[in-house]
Order: sequence, then structure tokens, then C-alpha cells
Amino acid sequence: MTNPTQIMQVAGDLTSWVEDILPPVAVLERCRRFAEGDSRLDRLVIGRSQQNVDIEAYRFGTSARHVLLYAFPDPGEAVGGTTILSLIKGLLEGHAFLSSLDVTWHFIPCLNFDDQPEKGQVLASVFRTPSAREVDWCVDNPRPETRALLEYARAIRPIFTYPLHDEFHCGESVPLYFVTAGTLPSALLRSLVSVAAAFGFAVAQEGCEPKVIDMAFTPDFPKSTFSHLARHGLVLMGEVSQQRGIPSCNLVSAQLAFGLIALQYMQSLPCDKPVTRLPMPRPVPTFCGQFVTLRPPDPAADAGDYFEMNRDPDMHTWTGNRVLTSVDEAQAELERFAAMDDISTWMIVDNPTGRVVGRFFLCLEDRDGVRVVGEGNRIAKPYWRKGHNREARAILFRYAFSELCADVIETSVWAGNINSVKSIETHGFRFHHEERKWNDKYAQEMALRVYVMTRQEWEYKEAKGKFPQ
Ligand SMILES: [Zn+2]
Repeated sequence: MTNPTQIMQVAGDLTSWVEDILPPVAVLERCRRFAEGDSRLDRLVIGRSQQNVDIEAYRFGTSARHVLLYAFPDPGEAVGGTTILSLIKGLLEGHAFLSSLDVTWHFIPCLNFDDQPEKGQVLASVFRTPSAREVDWCVDNPRPETRALLEYARAIRPIFTYPLHDEFHCGESVPLYFVTAGTLPSALLRSLVSVAAAFGFAVAQEGCEPKVIDMAFTPDFPKSTFSHLARHGLVLMGEVSQQRGIPSCNLVSAQLAFGLIALQYMQSLPCDKPVTRLPMPRPVPTFCGQFVTLRPPDPAADAGDYFEMNRDPDMHTWTGNRVLTSVDEAQAELERFAAMDDISTWMIVDNPTGRVVGRFFLCLEDRDGVRVVGEGNRIAKPYWRKGHNREARAILFRYAFSELCADVIETSVWAGNINSVKSIETHGFRFHHEERKWNDKYAQEMALRVYVMTRQEWEYKEAKGKFPQ
């Protein structure tokens, strides 16, 4: 994983051409020129504004994971246009870091053209009229720009949406703060704040914490664009402003760095909804059973075994993972898991041989006061149905209900994954519901079966040796 300091360098690279922040018309002209000169960048018209101006989107990449950035969401909020240009330029030039991110990029360089000062020709400070129907908020009686944004997002289901709002427009120095639609994972917030400070920004504080406005706590959130976007993944904004002594290009670099950090964070998670995760206890405890030992990863030592077990393509038919290409890549993946503070990962070690034969993860969410533990595991094919998985589950479920105080353990499986469905059902999970979800590997919506095990069911099993019928 690239650390925040490296990301700052990447952002500095990508914005080295920036002399000033550009107004909407100049941004749109450059986007069109980029698309005309390079067939990898697609120009789309995704709707028309209230005053009948095309709303343009630009797409780059072919991955099944999508990222959406949109600029000029409000009048005078101009930084994002230049951020988008920097990213497009970097993508077309084959910047190594951007190429390493396996995503399809979607850019809307100017979402709200109609309300920009001087027909988008110049930058000017503007103050919001409170009565204005905000393009990037009101879903009730929406403006056509809002409808275009949401329809586009529904089609691509972005794992990360980056609405490029800023405090640049007011022309005043305001301490930097973040806005989200749901809880911001603490590890991510720490990285964002360290980068903001390193770029020289004063960061707003609330008590002794950096200021984060979670829009999900505002009363009309359900009627907002953000609530729609948050269904697909993370929604985050970093409100940069014109602070004394900070050159304009740093506003662009910082905004870009925040986006890359968040995107990298989203990519490091096995699922696309981290918004209500709670931190997991540290250190990750070790458990010794009859067949297996469960212990935290030792990336350097485990990489070899982990690489071997992942070589079997049968392991990946139904997972989002792919076959790892080298022991180094295996080590990097384990390092990534070990560094997450809201997921605990265990290596499943076969006791007789001492070899790593699988891995297990648990995470914890607070859903309206209900503590839900999520679980998932992979086990090498030669060890399927030999009791390893059963024992690993029994040990970690005891841990989940006693130490993590879970009310329920939830797990999910693609309906077509017959082996896992059987395994989950024989381990006492109860079918809860089926939903349609995007499957990255198959690049289509598929049926996902969600199973649960409540504390009562588990306690019954612990007492009677079998699950209630
Ligand atoms: Zn705004």
C-alpha cells in the first residue's frame, strides 16, 4: 500500500503543470481536447442542464470497479475542475501510480454549469443563496443535473464517489474539514488529516478530533444525492479553502491526494460498504485448536504458503480475488490485511504440518445499535471438508459472541457457489434473504444469499450440541 507521503508525491507530480485554478469553460475545453486526441478517453453527454447545456462525462479504463468524481457542484466551487484535468492528464500519460489502481474513472468536469459566475468564463467568489435548489443535494423535485448525476451513478455503482465541493468559492480562509455520508473509518481519516497538514492546511477541530461532518446525521439526508451515492460505496469530500501562504496548486494537490487515499482505502477492503465499521481489538489474539491454529499474519514468513494456496484457480471462482502472481504480491496482500484496523485477519495453520492452509477474517459493524459481525474465509482445496473450517469457525464465533459482544454473525455467499452454500448451512447459519448485488468478477448483478446466526441460536448450540431446528 502506498503511504500518505508517497501519495502526496504522486499528487505533486500530477499537478506539476498547474499554475492556477481554471474556470469551467477552460476546464471543459481541455477535457474535449484530451478526448479528441486520445480514443481511450470517452466523452459522453449524460443529460442537459436546466438551461439546456450538455452535461458532459468522461470515462477512462475498463475495470469493473468504478470511481466517480464531479466538479463545480455549486457556484464557484472551482478546485475540482483542475483536479479532474490533472487526473485525466496523468491517466493519458500513463502515470505509474494511476495505472496501478484497477478502476474505471468517471469524471463530470462541470455538474452545475448554469449557476457558475459569468457563464463559466471566469472564477469569482460567490455566496450561496439559501433558497437555491442545490444540484448536489435535493432529490425531491430534482433539477435535471441532479437526475443526470444519479442516473449515471446508478449505472456504474461507484465504489467511491468524490463530489468536489470546496470552500474556495467564498474567498475566505476557512480551516479545512471533511464531509462524508456515513462514518469515516478512523484509519482513513488519520491519513487524510496527515496529508492536509503536510500540504500546510489548518485543519478544523471539533473537541480534540478533526472536524468531519457526517451528512447521514442531517434530517433530510434520505432525500439527498449523497444518500443515493452512499448506497454504492464511500462518499467523501475534503473542503479546501484559500488559506494564507498556500499556493493555488496546493489546493488542487491536496484535493487530489485525498481522493487517491480514499480510493486506495476502498480498494483495500473486501466489500464495498465500510461505512459503519467499528475498530477491531488489537493485538489480534492467537487460538490453538485440535486441527488448526489461528494466528495473525506474519506477512514475510507466511507469503510462501499463502502464495501456494492461492495458486489454485478453483479458489477464486467465486471470490473477488485473483491468483497472486508472485510471493512478493502475496506478502503485500498480507501486509495490507495486517494493517487494517477494522478487520482482523487470521491465518489458518494446519497443526500437523504447520503450514498455512487458509485465512479467516472478522469485522464488526454497529447497525442501529445491533452489533453485527461479518465473517469470511478461504481455505485451500485439499483441506475442504476435513474439519479445519468447522473448527476455525467454532473458535472465532466463540470469540465474536464473547469478546466482540456480537448480537448476530452475518455471512453472505453468491447463490451459485454451491459448495459454500452447503458449508454455511451445515455450520448452523440460517438463510435470511437474497439480494441482487454487483459481482466484480463476472461484471454483472447476481444473486447473493445472506445468512445469519444470532447469539441465541449460538448459545442453544453451545448448550445442546446442535442448532435449534
Ligand atoms: Zn458545495
